[in-house]
Amino acid sequence: MPVFTNHDPVARLTPERMDEEMVLPNSGSCFYPVSLLDELIREDVVSRILKDYNLSDRQPQLTRFVCTKAKRVFAILIACEQVPLMTRFFENRFTDEMLPVGPGFFSGSSEQAEIESFTTRFANLTIVKNTFDRRSWRYRDLQYFHRDRQWPFISPIFTEKDFRYLFHEQSHMPFMEENAEIWKDTNFSLVEKRRIHRDHLKIEHTIGVTDDPTEHPYVAVKLIKKGALDWDRYKAVADEEAEALEMLRDRKHNHLIRAIGYYTLGKNRYILSPWAGLGNLREFWEQDVTDPTRRALSPRFLDWMFTQLCGLSDAVQRLHSVPGTQDSWRHGDLKPENILCFEDIGTLPAEKYLPCVLVIADVGLTRHHTTATQERQNETRTKSGTIMYEPPETELDQNQKKGRSRRYDIWSMGCIYLEFIIWLLYGSSELKRMVRDLGDNKRFYEFDSSKKPKLHHVIEAWTEHIRNDRRCPTNTALRWLLDLVVDRLLSTDMGIIPTIKRADTMLLHRSSTLSESNGNGAKGPTVLLRAPTALSQSGASISPSLDGRASAEEMNDQLQEIYKSTTLVDDFRLEWMMFDEPAQRGPDESLYGSGLTESDAKRHTTSISRNREVYGMSWFQSYLYQFPYLTVSYTTQPLDDKWEYGPDAEIAHSLSSQLDTLYPTSYGSHVATLCVRCRHLELWRPRCDFSDTLAGLKKKGAYCTFCLLLHRGLSTHVSSDSLNLEFSRVGSSVACSALSNQPIASLYTLPAFQNDLPGVQISIPELREPGSQLNINTMSEWIRSCGRRHSCLPRNDVFLPTRVLDVGSPPSTSIRLVCFAREHTTSGKYLALSHRWGSTTANKMFRTLKENLEAFKQAISIADLPTTFRQAVQITRSLGIQYIWIDSLCIVQDDSEDWDHESGLMEKVFSSAYATIAATCATGTNDGFLKSRPKRQCVLMKKGEFPYYVCEAIDNFYEHVEQADLNKRGWVLQERALSRRTIHFTERQCYWECGGGVRCETFTKMKNRKASFLGDADFPRSVESYVKGMKIELFQDLYSKYSNLALSYNADRPIAIRGLEKRLLQTLDTKGGFGIFDVYLHRCLLWQRTGNALKKITAFHGQTVPSWSWMAYEGGIKYMNVPFGQVDWSTDVVSPFAHTESMDDTNSVQSMQLKAPLFNILDPLNDDLILDETDQHSEQPLKCIIVGTSKDLHPDQKLICYTLLVRETGGKKSGIHERVGVARLRRDHVASSPSTLEASIQ
Ligand SMILES: [Zn+2]
Ligand SMILES: [Zn+2]
Repeated sequence: MPVFTNHDPVARLTPERMDEEMVLPNSGSCFYPVSLLDELIREDVVSRILKDYNLSDRQPQLTRFVCTKAKRVFAILIACEQVPLMTRFFENRFTDEMLPVGPGFFSGSSEQAEIESFTTRFANLTIVKNTFDRRSWRYRDLQYFHRDRQWPFISPIFTEKDFRYLFHEQSHMPFMEENAEIWKDTNFSLVEKRRIHRDHLKIEHTIGVTDDPTEHPYVAVKLIKKGALDWDRYKAVADEEAEALEMLRDRKHNHLIRAIGYYTLGKNRYILSPWAGLGNLREFWEQDVTDPTRRALSPRFLDWMFTQLCGLSDAVQRLHSVPGTQDSWRHGDLKPENILCFEDIGTLPAEKYLPCVLVIADVGLTRHHTTATQERQNETRTKSGTIMYEPPETELDQNQKKGRSRRYDIWSMGCIYLEFIIWLLYGSSELKRMVRDLGDNKRFYEFDSSKKPKLHHVIEAWTEHIRNDRRCPTNTALRWLLDLVVDRLLSTDMGIIPTIKRADTMLLHRSSTLSESNGNGAKGPTVLLRAPTALSQSGASISPSLDGRASAEEMNDQLQEIYKSTTLVDDFRLEWMMFDEPAQRGPDESLYGSGLTESDAKRHTTSISRNREVYGMSWFQSYLYQFPYLTVSYTTQPLDDKWEYGPDAEIAHSLSSQLDTLYPTSYGSHVATLCVRCRHLELWRPRCDFSDTLAGLKKKGAYCTFCLLLHRGLSTHVSSDSLNLEFSRVGSSVACSALSNQPIASLYTLPAFQNDLPGVQISIPELREPGSQLNINTMSEWIRSCGRRHSCLPRNDVFLPTRVLDVGSPPSTSIRLVCFAREHTTSGKYLALSHRWGSTTANKMFRTLKENLEAFKQAISIADLPTTFRQAVQITRSLGIQYIWIDSLCIVQDDSEDWDHESGLMEKVFSSAYATIAATCATGTNDGFLKSRPKRQCVLMKKGEFPYYVCEAIDNFYEHVEQADLNKRGWVLQERALSRRTIHFTERQCYWECGGGVRCETFTKMKNRKASFLGDADFPRSVESYVKGMKIELFQDLYSKYSNLALSYNADRPIAIRGLEKRLLQTLDTKGGFGIFDVYLHRCLLWQRTGNALKKITAFHGQTVPSWSWMAYEGGIKYMNVPFGQVDWSTDVVSPFAHTESMDDTNSVQSMQLKAPLFNILDPLNDDLILDETDQHSEQPLKCIIVGTSKDLHPDQKLICYTLLVRETGGKKSGIHERVGVARLRRDHVASSPSTLEASIQ
């Protein structure tokens, strides 16, 4: 560029000097940079020039017009040496924006041609016509203006605001060189590398534009070729590409290309983009990261790489969907060549380490429908053979002409990421070798013998090789990435097959090893099984993305998760990779295998038989191994209400051969779909902790079965989405900080793998149906184990109820009622049925009456029995027991003498039964209790090749049994307590309850003190072993529980618990009744309502219940909270049982009077008084009995007394009082001395 000695702007504004200062002077592409116009055409300069032309009379309006609206016009006029004509432009208000001009299309180039503006924005012909008025212009000058001189001064400017431009074919583009460097020339496009003048590119570029040394940015100019297309089609194709690019640009994403503009020059269409100075990803991989010229592998490099991979995933997600819109695109042609490497200009030069920013470029973008561009891309594909990154469905769907799914892009990303890993670990030449070894078609998949797509065997060999590379063991980010790529991105199943179909059933052959050991000839039996994972649940409830290939969202989430894990602190931090381990080559070609599935099968068989050898040993070891019990407590309940969990190895062992038959070890090759975190959880380790939030679990639950399981288990318990939830392995369970009363998940493995997974409980993820062989065998084992280990059943008990049902045995289709003499000398085993009758409208009243008694003694057809009874008979037969006792059949229902006698024996009936069947889940006699279990969520995981299952926790005796409707019946409490051994048939599973604790069908044992009080075979014997405080708490708990249970007849309230009460009185060796134990008289009296009010029961079975007993009321009660050891009980309160020998003598009202001094209540706060019945009003004043007084002064320096509130009843002078409530009062709110020394309360 010439150097000017004379810097006077006026001197520079001459035709010659202006020509010299142009870019590419004297060439057909010359242009005058726009900055020169701004620099030179200023008011002072313009004014001087105008003065030279004697146009000063027009100033200053003319000058201002030039400087604000017509700099270009002015410059062109100088170049044409026609400055005086500036007045015409001024008078007509012709501005720069109306340029360029030229002869109209129809007027040709003759001398008469009309001049028009070429810019479509200005249709005002008059301005142009008047400005270029032929009377003022000579033809030659006019032609000179529009044909030659205007173009260099109106070179286009590209701005951020605009994207589409229309240029006249004569336009001089603002490029710095006349002849471009051709970068790529295909049938469809021609790409040139250009430098654009910095004045003519007005965009804010945070990425991508590399400048030459004089700061003129490099750009790529792509001419879209017309080829054989007609002009309309050409326009459509080009417009569509432009639309895609404009969309990408609008996404404003660092990893999506941001094109500068789309312009039409004449008839040709061009795309202008920032030049990717560092080439594309394929070229990037040409270099080796370990080259001496480059930095070696380092955490920083891995950080860069993962940042880029995350960025690309995020970009694909942004392409696939824009939050809050329906706008959805797919790329359709992702490959390393389409991922460009831009210089990262956001980084300060001093820190310029990172190689580049990877940016997804434009090619192939389409909306959902099949489009012109895609057709064209398909042509490209077949011609140039870039099919390497296509997923298998492209071939499968070839005949269907379907648009490409967004999952198509995910497969391509999987290929790219895998190549990236291979390049990183083994370098450029090994990557090339891998690609070469893929063979002619170069795809990452192949078809197996049954024409199903699978991962290409070469790819499999490479991934297997990487998994064994010491540089990326399981606790590295690189390994997590690999697993994500192989399992979730390169999934050949894109989810076309409906979930439910695939998971429905599986036909499996037992291994030959097994059938031989059975002595079972050539071929083992065929077993039909359901899939174990959550996939076998109804397909509708599972998000379809759980199956098949990941969505962009999952891919992105998971990559971010990996990246995030590397930034954690301490033990939680994930290493990038093991940098210190030595580098190695890729796999030997000999390791590629044939790609046939047969070899997989062989390998699998070998591993199984190896496990078999140690099988016997593992059982021995598991026996010696004591599992730590998992102890959890109900936070809402008293502290000692804790449940302990532990594996029931004894029962599991007894049934192991059967478990093997049901779950052959080849079962469980279908590992569940998991997120990167869960995939790498080592739950089989005795210690394994992790944390998450409900929101996090929900999000990942869309593609991770374990997160889904956790989310489902917690969503009803945790209210805050963002609360930090801590999970830890405890015993053979996973516990959660937010769930204190039970584990969230249970860990199981099959007997064959016990040795390899010590500490993991043996069980099967899917329980068989109730009544199935395994279910029956489990119950038999419970009975056998109890008989052998406990003393739950007294050996010398010979009691048989008066009547029992003899169930006979198959094939007999009937049973019969057997009657014995009332002396009960016959002995025999019988089961007792504890059940609900249910509503009489929905349930058949099937019962023994006087009229059918004789017939029932002959035979009762099993088919006639209501379902619950029929199933009870079925279970009794299966367990090999002869008799069963069912209340409605064994007591003659319309014989009141028989009913009175037999119901009095109920205590004995239940306590003498061999076991009780509790039809817990049956709503009535017609419902039955052998019901299909709800599907259980289970996730198959592996430790190496050893499978284990993480299953939804279903061991919840509290909820399934204690909270069940059956156990809300008043009568059932004593049935359960008096039964020595009970099998509870609940909806989720069966539980065994005896003096030894609770056993679950899942082979878990449970223990709880309060439950064992009721489960005690010899109820309430266990109470003896407790300290006093504990005894009190237990009976209080029992009575509170009972008071909340429902009774069909209120009058039964004192009776339905009499059996229990009798036993308690005996065991505590005391007198009492109606809820009072003489030894604990004071505490027994201090009960209070739990609800708003109690309701007095008006009539009992010919007896009176005193007002001091809660049994006189309907409604739940609890006991006043009186701290142990801190109260002095009043010795003036005389027990109603002081002068009676036993409760049976207490039928007279007189003898059931409680006697105590009465005190007046002074000025009590209303809140202190807890009245039993809130709606009773009386004229009589409230008085109180002091039952106990606190030993110590309270913080307010007052003693506290615990009182019964009483009121005189009947006639004023009767002197008889009744209880109306309780109160905790300050001593000084009660009169200091009694008003009556001994009042009677009844
Ligand atoms: Zn997960
Ligand atoms: Zn037992």
